[in-house]
Amino acid sequence: MRSYEEYEKGLYAMKKNIWIGNEKVGRNDPRIKGGMMIIKETYDKAFDPEFEDLCTATSHITGKKINRFTHIHQNVDDLLKKQRMTRTLCHRVGGCIQRCMGIDALNAVSVVTYECDLALGTIYYQNFLNYMKMFQEKDLAASCASTDAKGDRSKRPSQQENPDAYLRIVETREDGIIVRGAKQCITNTPYVDEIIVVPCRMMFPDDADYCVSFAIPGDWDGIKLLTRPAYHHSPKVPKEFIPKILEIGDAETFIIFDDVFIPNERIFLNGQADPRQVPYAGFLALMFAHYHRHSYCGCKPAISEILASASALVAEYNGIADAKHVQEKISHILGTAELVYAAGESSAYHSEKSSSGTQVPDEILTNAGRRHAGEQIYDEYKILADLAGGIMATLPFMETFLNEEVGEIALKYMQRNPRVKPENIVKCFKGIEALGCSDLGGVTQIAGLHGGGSPQMETIAMMGRYDLKSLKNIAKYLFGIKKNLGRIERQENPVTPRKLLENYGKALTTQQKRQK
Ligand SMILES: Cc1cc2nc3c(=O)[nH]c(=O)nc-3n(C[C@H](O)[C@H](O)[C@H](O)COP(=O)(O)OP(=O)(O)OC[C@H]3O[C@@H](n4cnc5c(N)ncnc54)[C@H](O)[C@@H]3O)c2cc1C
Repeated sequence: MRSYEEYEKGLYAMKKNIWIGNEKVGRNDPRIKGGMMIIKETYDKAFDPEFEDLCTATSHITGKKINRFTHIHQNVDDLLKKQRMTRTLCHRVGGCIQRCMGIDALNAVSVVTYECDLALGTIYYQNFLNYMKMFQEKDLAASCASTDAKGDRSKRPSQQENPDAYLRIVETREDGIIVRGAKQCITNTPYVDEIIVVPCRMMFPDDADYCVSFAIPGDWDGIKLLTRPAYHHSPKVPKEFIPKILEIGDAETFIIFDDVFIPNERIFLNGQADPRQVPYAGFLALMFAHYHRHSYCGCKPAISEILASASALVAEYNGIADAKHVQEKISHILGTAELVYAAGESSAYHSEKSSSGTQVPDEILTNAGRRHAGEQIYDEYKILADLAGGIMATLPFMETFLNEEVGEIALKYMQRNPRVKPENIVKCFKGIEALGCSDLGGVTQIAGLHGGGSPQMETIAMMGRYDLKSLKNIAKYLFGIKKNLGRIERQENPVTPRKLLENYGKALTTQQKRQK
C-alpha cells in the first residue's frame, strides 16, 4: 500500500496537461490541492489502526493486503464494508470522498469482461486481471470517465451530426486502437493516476465504433484535461482560525481524447473489432452506474448527516435548539440518511455473485436508494439555510474578525447563544457558508442530483427490472378479478449479470423492431 506522500510524488512526476482557464498547469497548481487533501484521507486511514478494518481488504488476485479503494468485491461483507468506509470517510472530509468512481468502474469491468470472454472468446478479462494486479500493487487512484459530450440528447451516437459527440474508435491497429472524443463532468482527474473509460449508454449495431472501454494514465499522450476547480477562499489568518472544511476542494474535468493511442493490453472492449461486442457496451455502462449508485448509498447518508449536524449546531448557537420545528426538520434529514443507507445495506444483503466471482448489489434497492437521495438533496440544503438564517450568505471574511480596528466590535455582534463564544459562532457560520453557499457547496448540490445519473436514469433502471405484471396481481386479487394470489414478497433480485444481459438483449431487439 502507498502512503499519501508517495501518491503525491507520483502526481508531481506527471506531465503538464491540465488547463485551468487560459493557463496550462501541472499537478502542483494550488487550485487542485483541496482535492488531493480529500484523497489523502483514503491513504492515511488505511494505515490507521482505528480505520484499518474498513479501509483495507485482501486482494482476490494476490492474497495481499490492499487499500479497499483498489478492491474487487467478493462477498456481501465487502459490499457492506465499502459502504461503511464511504460513509465514515465522507464525514471526515465534509462531502464526497472522490476515490470511489475508479474502483466502481473496475468492479463493473470485472463483471462485463468475464461475460464477454465467456460468450465471444475475447481476452478482456485477462487484460483486466493484469491491469488490476498492477493497480493494486501500486495502490493507484483513478477517475471513471463515462459521461460523453453526447450532443443532441434525442439521438444515438451514430445519428449525431458530430461523429465525435461520443468517444469512438477511429482506428483499430495490430497493437492497439486510436480513440477520439470527449468525456465531460469527470471528477478528480487532475489528481489521480489513471482514467478508466467506459461507455455511458446502451448501443446499437450502428454504434459499434462507440463501444469501447480501456484504462490509461491521466497524462497519456493526447489527453487534455480542461479543469474547473472548486475551492474555498483561504483566509490569511492564523491556522487555529481556519475551519478544516476550508482546506478541501474538488475539480471537475472535461477530458479531450485527441486521437489517443490505447495499447491492446489496456483495452476492455472494442466494438469495432467485433460488432458482437456491442451489447456489452450498454451492459458496462449500466454496471458502472450500478456500482456507483451503491457507493452513493454510502456517501449520500454522510452528506445528509453533515448537513443535519451543521443544522443542529447552528440551531444551538442561534438559541433555538429546543423549538419543535427544528427537531422536525433535522429528523427529516436524518430519516433520509438512514433510509438511503438501509437501501444500500439491503442491496448488499440481496446481492449475487457474478460468473467472474465479483459480488453484484441488488439493482432495484440500489436505484431506489440513490434516487431517494437525489430527490431530497435540495430539501436538505433548504433546511440548513432555513435554520442558519441569512448570515450564511452575508458574513464578512474571517480576516475582518481579526482586524485591529473592527474585529472586536464585529465579534460583539456575533454573540447569539450566550453560552457559546462568538469566535465559535463565526467559525460555525464560515463552515456553513462553505457547505451551502460556496463554489464547492454548489458543486456538491448538483452532484447530489446528477452524480451517478439523473433521477430519471434511476427510474429507468428500476422500472426496467421491476415486474409490473406480477405486481398487478395484488390489485387483481383484491378487486376480485383474480381468484388466487400466490405468496408475493419483495421482487427478488433479477439482476444476475447473465439475466441482465438477456434482458438487455431483449430490450435491444424490441427497440430495433420499433425503429423499423
Ligand atoms: C459534480 C458532478 C460530478 C460528476 N462526476 C462524474 C464522473 O466522475 N464520471 C462520470 O462519468 N460522470 C460524472 N458526472 C456526470 C453525471 O453522471 C451526469 O451529469 C449525469 O449522468 C447526467 O448527464 P448529463 O449531465 O449529460 O445530463 P443530461 O443527460 O443532458 O440530462 C439533462 C436532462 O435531460 C434528460 N434527458 C437526457 N437524455 C434524454 C432523452 N434521450 N430523452 C428524454 N430526456 C432526456 C435527463 O433525464 C435530464 O433530466 C458528474 C456530474 C456532476 C454534476
